[in-house]
Amino acid sequence: MEKITDYFGSMVFDDRIMKATLSEKVYKSLKRTIDRGTPLDISVANAVASAMKDWAVSKGATHYTHWFQPMTGITAEKHDSFISPAPDGRVIMEFSGKELVKGEPDASSFPSGGLRATFEARGYTAWDPTSYAFIKDNTLYIPTAFCSYGGEALDKKVPLLRSMEALNRQALRILKLFGNDKVRCVKTSVGPEQEYFLVDRELWKQRKDLIMTGRTLFGARSPKGQEMEDHYFGSIKPRVAEYMADLDKELWKLGILAKTKHNEVAPAQHELAPIFSTTNIAADHNQLTMEVMQKVALRHGLVCLLHEKPFAGVNGSGKHNNWSISTDTGVNLLTPGETPYENAQFLLFLAAVIKAVDDYQDLLRLSVATAGNDHRLGANEAPPAVISIFLGDELTAVLEAIENDTPYDGTKKEKMTLGVDVLPQFSKDTTDRNRTSPFAFTGNKFEFRMLGSSNSISCANIHLNAAVAESLRQFADVLEKADDFKASLHTLIKETITKHKRIIFNGNGYDEKWIAEAESRGLSNLRTTADCMPKICDKKNVDMLTSHGIFTEAEICSRRDIMLDNYVKSVNIEAVTMIDMAKKEIIPAAAKYAADTASAISAKAAAAPGASNAYETRIVTELSALVDEMDAATSALEKAVDELKEIEVIVTASEFVRDTLIPAMDRLRAAADKAETLTAESYWPFPTYDKLLFGV
Ligand code: ADP
Ligand code: MG
Repeated sequence: MEKITDYFGSMVFDDRIMKATLSEKVYKSLKRTIDRGTPLDISVANAVASAMKDWAVSKGATHYTHWFQPMTGITAEKHDSFISPAPDGRVIMEFSGKELVKGEPDASSFPSGGLRATFEARGYTAWDPTSYAFIKDNTLYIPTAFCSYGGEALDKKVPLLRSMEALNRQALRILKLFGNDKVRCVKTSVGPEQEYFLVDRELWKQRKDLIMTGRTLFGARSPKGQEMEDHYFGSIKPRVAEYMADLDKELWKLGILAKTKHNEVAPAQHELAPIFSTTNIAADHNQLTMEVMQKVALRHGLVCLLHEKPFAGVNGSGKHNNWSISTDTGVNLLTPGETPYENAQFLLFLAAVIKAVDDYQDLLRLSVATAGNDHRLGANEAPPAVISIFLGDELTAVLEAIENDTPYDGTKKEKMTLGVDVLPQFSKDTTDRNRTSPFAFTGNKFEFRMLGSSNSISCANIHLNAAVAESLRQFADVLEKADDFKASLHTLIKETITKHKRIIFNGNGYDEKWIAEAESRGLSNLRTTADCMPKICDKKNVDMLTSHGIFTEAEICSRRDIMLDNYVKSVNIEAVTMIDMAKKEIIPAAAKYAADTASAISAKAAAAPGASNAYETRIVTELSALVDEMDAATSALEKAVDELKEIEVIVTASEFVRDTLIPAMDRLRAAADKAETLTAESYWPFPTYDKLLFGV
């Protein structure tokens, strides 16, 4: 048996390989770039490129690619081979520092939201040396950022790196005030828990909706769903277990720390969680994980569905973004410390997060908004579209004590004063129980649970880092000027709690009553992508994001347009697919079954005059009415699709999708799902929910 330690990271040009293949001088210089962001000398780049190429070729690689993450949310790559003609008519394998550092994909067809005029259509990709290069499919992958020649970000990595830098800048100001001058940098880390469904590939192939849109657009509920709750953490079926083992191995080779795997709530639903890493690396790894999940599934005759809502009536899939901030000296700033002094610092960072989430609810909500995720948020299975923070009773009691100048636990007499009191350790057991909160403190990190399973984690982390950087900036501005640091600190935390406590909610987020209460607290409830996405251009958001250098105003508006365009296009494809399936498959099948049943009535009358035909008559009557309804609903949907084509303004188009197109789709589906329950299984044109959900 091969040992994991032997092949873990075997396809990664990691620190160990760098040390072994680079001269000491080059290695040190590259390390400085990786750790501190110092610019890379071209001679160093040449040496690194050469070592990378030799290593990659020794592993069988023939090509290299600059791998990047355009605003579509998926990854892009263009492959070049290493070959270069030699004078003797043969070839040599070459790769220069210039090719490593910068690429120029012909990127004119990636969305830029108007950032890039066609005459300067070419963007360029720039190597991100902090994320290791790796080999996949005989190709050397170089993680890169993607920019226009004007310097505008055309991807998700550039703003993510900028947001990490903004948070670093502001956090260092705060740490300095606490006398931490050994800390050289602060980084955010993320561990994304990834949910997914597995379905049998042969069944998948028979459904146009799964093929075209990644979700079922039709389908009556299966007789058994998730009500028995027997799937969650249940024993893993052999075929799925084989898939998971294979997946782990592929991910480990790529240096991805796949750690936990288990069944999820819905039948056929599973989860994979990695050990956390620095945010930009976690983002690269999560993109890669999603790709590898899908690829490995095919080898097992399966299809991995990453859509947020593949099946109506059972849970959809999300992605939990476990997030924390830590220093290069190894301190997690979201962990309560051992001393009163450490605790004051912890409480300040905690206050910064609370303020950030309250001030920028809209930015967090829209960072996870897609057509797919709209099916989950607010649908009693995922956190609601309302953002709130779960802190747990213990920590909430501490904050209340600070707010009210009272002791935080009944056994003590003194008031809760910062710098005096020692906080309890908040164990995971007391903090991790509320699964309904969109943003939960889990002992030493926050878990942002609104992300959809197919979301890139970059958007959520860009906005989260930015918002927290903004809180810290405001705090540092106050505290740097303070005469009495301790007193100012106390007042600042107290005021922050008073002002922002409305965002704290420890109850059941799925409860209808909470939504009403949230409204009375003034929290925003942005239900759909069309509702929330335009808010990115609100002045307060533009001011904040531009002031930290995370986006330019042009970049912000381009992102709104791209995301709304994506929403409109995704739903439109679903609508067109529904029309196609209804017209060519569902209506003919239901009509045929109704007709055959009608013929059975006359055949029966001939064979057995006077025999009852009540059953057949009911089927024919009800099914015929549904066939007419499906026909009418299909025509209405076609009309809506045509009207959508005429709308030029993207915000208007997104509202039309929300208000007209989606309701028209719902109408057609309702009729078709009812018809399915009246039609004999042998007549139904594609596999039904029970087969899909229990077929693996
Ligand atoms: P679970 O939620 O399954 O009980 P954990 O809470 O231990 O398990 O971890 C869930 C995820 O949170 C994992 O991906 C883990 O690596 C990640 N995680 C743990 N600590 C941190 C941290 N300090 N920063 C970011 N992510 C973390
Ligand atoms: Mg968790």
